[in-house]
Amino acid sequence: MSRKERVYKIGEEEALRQKQIIEELSSSFQGKGLSYFIQTFGCQMNVRDSEKLVGILEKLGFSLAVKEKEADFIIYNTCCVRENAEQKVFGRLGSLKSYKEKNPHIKIAICGCMMQQENVLKEIKQKYRHVDLVFGTFNLYKFPELLQTHLETNQMVIDIWKEHQEIVEDLPSIRKDTFKAGVNIMYGCNNFCSYCIVPYVRGRERSRLPEEILAEVQRLVADGVKEIMLLGQNVNSYGKTLEQDYSFPDLLKDLTHIEGLERIRFMTSHPKDLSDELIKVMKESNKICRHLHLPVQAGSTKILKAMNRKYTKEHYLNLVKKIRSAMPNISLTTDIIVGFPGEHENEFQETLDLVQQVKFDGAFTFLYSKRTGTPGATMEDQIPEEKAKKHFNELLSILDSIVYENNLEKKEEILQILVEEANQENQTILTGRSDTNHLVHFAGDSSLVGKIVPVKITDAKPYYLIGELIV
Ligand code: SF4
Repeated sequence: MSRKERVYKIGEEEALRQKQIIEELSSSFQGKGLSYFIQTFGCQMNVRDSEKLVGILEKLGFSLAVKEKEADFIIYNTCCVRENAEQKVFGRLGSLKSYKEKNPHIKIAICGCMMQQENVLKEIKQKYRHVDLVFGTFNLYKFPELLQTHLETNQMVIDIWKEHQEIVEDLPSIRKDTFKAGVNIMYGCNNFCSYCIVPYVRGRERSRLPEEILAEVQRLVADGVKEIMLLGQNVNSYGKTLEQDYSFPDLLKDLTHIEGLERIRFMTSHPKDLSDELIKVMKESNKICRHLHLPVQAGSTKILKAMNRKYTKEHYLNLVKKIRSAMPNISLTTDIIVGFPGEHENEFQETLDLVQQVKFDGAFTFLYSKRTGTPGATMEDQIPEEKAKKHFNELLSILDSIVYENNLEKKEEILQILVEEANQENQTILTGRSDTNHLVHFAGDSSLVGKIVPVKITDAKPYYLIGELIV
C-alpha cells in the first residue's frame, strides 16, 4: 500500500471511529430538546465545514435554535482573512461570557482558520476561559471526540494541528438547501500569494480521490440535488497530488455524465492554472454553468508580481479573451484587492483599466488588510489607509456602473432559473439564479423552490434582475 493509499485508508477508519463516538454521545443529548447555533465567517470552504458540524450536532440530538442566546451549543466557525472579522469574533465571544455564567450547562466551541494562529490561541486561553472547545481546520472531523473529552474532563479542550494528516470524509452533514450542495474536491493551497494566510492555516494542497467525489455527488443527486458547487482554494490544480494522471477537466467530464445532475459550478479558479482543456470541457458541456469566478486581485503586473500571483495583466486579459471567444455569453466575476503595498496612482490606474476592459459581471472588492505572518505584512511602501480608501471608492463606483450596464443588457433574455427561495414576507415573490449566476426576482408559486424554470428578464437593477415566469 502506498503512503497516499494509507492516508486515505486511515481517513476511512477515522470516520468510522467518530461515527461510533457520535452514537455513544447521542444517548446523553437525544430527546432533551437541546438546540444549537452556528455562526460561519468567511468563505465557501467554511460554509461547507459548518454543514459538517451541523450534521454532527443534529445526529447528536440538537436542533437549530431560533436565537443565539437561546441555544445550548454555540459554535463560531471563524475566518482570518480580515482583521476586523477577527475582532468581531472576539467581541461576540466576550458577550457570551455572561450568557454562560447564567446558563453553565451551555457549550461554546470555536473553530476554523483563526484558531490556526498562535496569537489567537493565546488570547483565547487568557481571556475567554468560558470557551469549551477549540479546534482548527485540519481536525474538524474530530469534533465528536473533542466533545467527548470535554464531557469527561469538564475542561477547555484545545486541539490544533499544524498540518493535515488524513482526509476524513463521510461524516454526517446537513445541507442548507435540498436542491444544491457544496462538495470539497481539495483542501489547502500551494500558492503562497503574499497577502494570504490560507496556505499557513489550511496547509498544502491535497486532492480528494475522484471516485469518492463522484460517489458523493451521485448520493447527493439521488437525494434531490440539482446543482453542485465544487470547492477548493485553487480548483484548477486539482489532481496534482493524486497518484493517477487525473485533472480538474477530467473530473468535470466525469461529473457531467451523472444523470439527474443539472448544474455544475466551481470555485475558486486561479488564472495561472486555468487550462485550454478546461475551457474546452466547459464549452462542450451544457451542465457546467456559464460563470467563472476568476480573481484578478490587481491590474498592475508589478503589483501582481509583489502579490506572488504568477501571471501578468496581459496574461489575464488574454485568458478572458480566450474564455469569451469560446463562450460568448459567459459571466465573469472577480476579486480585487485595493491598497496592496506599492499600489500608487499608476498601479491603481492599471486596475481601473483592466476592469474597464474586462467589464466584469460582479466583483468582490477588498481593502488590503495586513495579515501577520504573510510576506505582505512586512513589505515596504505600505499604502496609507486614506489613499487606499479613496481608490477603493473610485473602483467601486466604476464597477457598479459596469455591472449595471451588463445587467441592462440582459433585458428581454430568457434565462433558466434555479429557484432558491420564496420571500419570507411575501411567498409569491421568488428568488433564484441563472446559470450565469445572476440573481433574479420574479412572481411565482413557492412550490417552484428547487426547480429550474424559464424566466424572461423585464428589468435590471444594479445588483439583480427582475423577470416574469414563462408558463
Ligand atoms: S491562491 Fe493565493 S489567495 Fe488563493 S488561497 Fe492560495 S495563497 Fe490564498
